[in-house]
Amino acid sequence: MSEGNVRVRFAPSPTGYPHVGNIRTALFNWLFARHSGGKFIVRIEDTDQSRKVEGALESILDSLRWLGLDWDEGPEVGGDFGPYFQSERLDLYHKYVLQLLDGGHAYKCYCSPARLAQARAQMAERKESMRSYDRHCRDLIPEEQARSEAQSITSVIRFKAPLDGQTTFHDLIRGDITFDNSELDDLVLLKSDGYPTYHLANIVDDHIMEISHVMRADEWVSSTPRHVLLYKALDWEPPLFAHLPMILGPDKSKLSKRHGATAVTEFRGQGYLPQAMLNFLALLGWSLDDKTEIFSREELVQYFAIERISKAAAVFSHDKLRWMNGVYIRDMSAEELTEQLLPFLEKDLPVEVKRPISREYVRQLVPLIQERLTTLGEAADLFGFFFVDKLFYNTELLLGKKLTRGTAVAGLEAALTRLEDQSFVAASLEEALRALASELGLKTGEFFGLLRVATTGRTATPPLFETMAVLGKDTCLKRIERALEKLRNNPKEPVPV
Ligand code: GLU
Repeated sequence: MSEGNVRVRFAPSPTGYPHVGNIRTALFNWLFARHSGGKFIVRIEDTDQSRKVEGALESILDSLRWLGLDWDEGPEVGGDFGPYFQSERLDLYHKYVLQLLDGGHAYKCYCSPARLAQARAQMAERKESMRSYDRHCRDLIPEEQARSEAQSITSVIRFKAPLDGQTTFHDLIRGDITFDNSELDDLVLLKSDGYPTYHLANIVDDHIMEISHVMRADEWVSSTPRHVLLYKALDWEPPLFAHLPMILGPDKSKLSKRHGATAVTEFRGQGYLPQAMLNFLALLGWSLDDKTEIFSREELVQYFAIERISKAAAVFSHDKLRWMNGVYIRDMSAEELTEQLLPFLEKDLPVEVKRPISREYVRQLVPLIQERLTTLGEAADLFGFFFVDKLFYNTELLLGKKLTRGTAVAGLEAALTRLEDQSFVAASLEEALRALASELGLKTGEFFGLLRVATTGRTATPPLFETMAVLGKDTCLKRIERALEKLRNNPKEPVPV
């Protein structure tokens, strides 16, 4: 197949919010399509009506859009092979089910749920639990079948899987994979409500939509021999398969809520950048050379290759994602970061902070905070003191490890006087306050620590003098006065000033 004929698909079921694993699958398909000049198709597998979740489709498409994974065919954009919702393609599935029935590859099954449960229990007892159906209806004689039909007993249509032998398929990542046919069920193709099962709809669509490569999560490996048998029964050539490695949490168990956020939309909400998320997801199971970590979108497209996808499970490290996000935050222009921060600050700063938040003020802060941010969502918490009126901290914080209350009071009083006529430019603030520390006989570390807590309420902040310059004289003097009151009036009590 020439590379230009690559047609790959992302085939989500709208049954929940997209897990990073789903989106990693979408990303690998997208990268492969863009790398090979092929097509990336989004197909919505919505045949299980009972598992449909309101809002799931929007959230899946939103996640793709957020990451810039544009699709050539699918919802909203259409295409020559539509519709791209399986629930709108039922006639097509019926047509091929009939073909399978006619060819003797499928049969009607009239078993009631109660009989199925009983058969399952008996098989489990006989330790045949690999399969879930005892094939009771597989060889019904015509009279029995006619009787069931006459009584209008609801039926499903099942695939007639081979009883022995083996099925092998080649996986582009894992090599040849062989299953014993005796392990395979006579799986349901068409349910009693007329909807196809995943297996039928999936292979019909992959064939009709001319999908060249099926790249999907490894949980589908065990379905693949069944699919291969179905392709054979329909006399179709199967696509190529590539099953992506599993994603584990740092404790090596399957990635789940327990490990923290897993929905892509949650990461967006916490202030991860799409370019960082894209880079991070690309490295979950793919690498260029086992050492390069930072890739632009263009580089990923350029270098992506199925041969570089690993067989081994990938580990999702939130720490690494945070680190990577920090790298991308530092790489932004000040204007861009200002734009991105504004909505987070609007949303996260305490209600008493006046809205709208001033863009100019945020732009002034950006050079101070850019180095220190790992997510946009942290900004309100780490740098809220630039915006709020009141600071909340304990008196002990002012004193740090060494200062006595008396020295602190004397220090802050002297600072107040000195700062009154001081120009609030970082360099001259530093000069003045260094001189003052030595006049007072205080270590600069201790004195500056005291001023830092008094003016910001925190012990870790951007550089003190730049911070004070941005806060401005009024705010700094007011805050130092409040710190003094706090030290004088509430010698023990840690209360807000
Ligand atoms: N609808 C399936 C899913 O949600 C698609 C699996 C496949 O790609 O074949 O994962």
